[in-house]
Amino acid sequence: MAKNEKTAISPTRAEDYAEWYQQVVRAADLAETSPVRGCMVIKPWGYALWENIQREMDRMFKATGHKNAYFPLFIPKSFLEKEAEHVAGFAKECAVVTHHRLIEGPGGGLVVDPEAKLEEPLIVRPTSETIIGAAFSQWVQSYRDLPLLINQWANVVRWELRTRLFLRTSEFLWQEGHTAHATEAEARQETQQMLDVYATFAEDYMAMPVLKGPKTASERFPGAVETFAIEAMMQDKKALQAGTSHFLGQNFAKASEIKFQTKEETFEYAWTTSWGSSTRLVGGIIMTHSDDDGLIVPPRLAPAHIAIWPVFRGDEGKEKIVEYIQSFARELRDITLWGRPLEVEVDMRDIRGGEKQWEWVKKGVPVRIEIGPRDVDGGVVTVARRDRTPREKENLSRAEAPAKIRAILEDMQRGLFERARKFRDDNTREVNDYESLRRFFDKEGGGFALVHWDGTAESEAKFKDDFKATIRCIAQAPERAAAWGERMLEPGKCIVTGNPSPRRVVVARSY
Ligand code: AMP
Repeated sequence: MAKNEKTAISPTRAEDYAEWYQQVVRAADLAETSPVRGCMVIKPWGYALWENIQREMDRMFKATGHKNAYFPLFIPKSFLEKEAEHVAGFAKECAVVTHHRLIEGPGGGLVVDPEAKLEEPLIVRPTSETIIGAAFSQWVQSYRDLPLLINQWANVVRWELRTRLFLRTSEFLWQEGHTAHATEAEARQETQQMLDVYATFAEDYMAMPVLKGPKTASERFPGAVETFAIEAMMQDKKALQAGTSHFLGQNFAKASEIKFQTKEETFEYAWTTSWGSSTRLVGGIIMTHSDDDGLIVPPRLAPAHIAIWPVFRGDEGKEKIVEYIQSFARELRDITLWGRPLEVEVDMRDIRGGEKQWEWVKKGVPVRIEIGPRDVDGGVVTVARRDRTPREKENLSRAEAPAKIRAILEDMQRGLFERARKFRDDNTREVNDYESLRRFFDKEGGGFALVHWDGTAESEAKFKDDFKATIRCIAQAPERAAAWGERMLEPGKCIVTGNPSPRRVVVARSY
């Protein structure tokens, strides 16, 4: 970018990445902070993005045999207490309901009625293993009832101390899958299958490349036997955990008495899994693709694919332009791409053309089209794409434009993924000695370090103490393996102690 070229977002990513992020969220009109600490208001453009995420994921869950259901927002405290590790993990961030009535206070205003104390406090769900477990224990009687494959779309509350729009909020929207199986092997397979679904969604829809693999014990979901995650690299080279899939063994089945009669007429505890992803994914999209002019959304999830508006002086020729736009928009809406009709916003608001253009740039609409009198007369349309500089525009003939715009959207989806993957791969490195690791994080800007680790909590803690970095996941060769993909699985020597290490782990700073 030329030095004197102004960007729509200030500060730029290079100047102050964290502040840039907040400004993009605001400029794209995705969400805002609310009067309630740590909770956000998701605005229509942001919510439409979430709805698209939701719809596409939901389709993938159903295609793998899951059904949606809904469970209560409140969890009796005693339910949460049933699994010791689980309650210990969530106790520090619970919202607790203790009363059910307000009364007028002595000095006016309302106070909590001490007479209306609940016999048992209710926890606003931070996750639903225990309340869903109670239902499962009723639903599962025989091996014939298994597998039980359920998903819930809901909000949850975790009293987070440091919050950031989309990435970490106290209340967030998510989906949580909960399944019960007759055998350990089947439950493990489900855990892996849903991890793969998340990875496919991240890469094919969000155009966000991910690494996937098990977490270390210290990063495990409270109560899980094993936690798997997908991890993406944001443009500040930090990792974002974008989805998790947990193998719960029989821990929660024992806590909730999910038992079934086998074919041999013995009784056994079921094997369960859970998996979740949240509105954090919106934050992932923002931080993977956006630039110093605002949001860039992968077309496959974009709230609208195309924005069109007229440019004219006075009222001269206005009618003709409006007609031209309407008929062109209709033609575009008849095009199906990725299984849904193209979404076209016709922007007729009475504001200056320049202002309008920048608004759509900042909102990240993939394709912008301006139509002026000369376009109408010449039978052309002027097209700009969000993955190019705002000044770059192309004239397409009216007849060819629909097919070409479709091709542009496909090209953009591919291009965004390739660009993000190149960035991730350029900033991922095998590091083999501790001094190099120190240089990597302290001097060279960091990224994903692929290092050997001896499996001990002590060695792991050193990454945190020395670099504020954590083990994001233990290598599981990514499907679309990068140059180093296969080498991640080779044995070596721990970068901290020199003790044997079966394979590399991914060490990075993270959100
Ligand atoms: P968990 O149930 O802890 O495995 O969380 C499931 C997923 O929800 C995680 O992988 C994150 O992507 C997301 N998540 C966890 N905590 C938050 C939060 N405070 N705000 C937004 N998303 C979150």
